[in-house]
Amino acid sequence: MDRKVLSHQAVDRALRILICTDCHEEFVFTAEAQAYFAEKGYVDDLKRCKSCHAAHKQAERCHVPSRPSA
Ligand SMILES: [Zn+2]
Repeated sequence: MDRKVLSHQAVDRALRILICTDCHEEFVFTAEAQAYFAEKGYVDDLKRCKSCHAAHKQAERCHVPSRPSA
């Protein structure tokens, strides 16, 4: 048995394991990210992992009236 239990409460507060709504992979919502979110005024939990979040953000930015050249 390891001693991870020792700081379980602190770890529980610092890190949160969430499931990405896009790829359904587990990802870590770090204390830093939580602080960043709070700073930005976001009240909801992070819903996407880092890569999906970036992709989603980019998709929003690309949401322009002009059609894609595909
Ligand atoms: Zn994801």
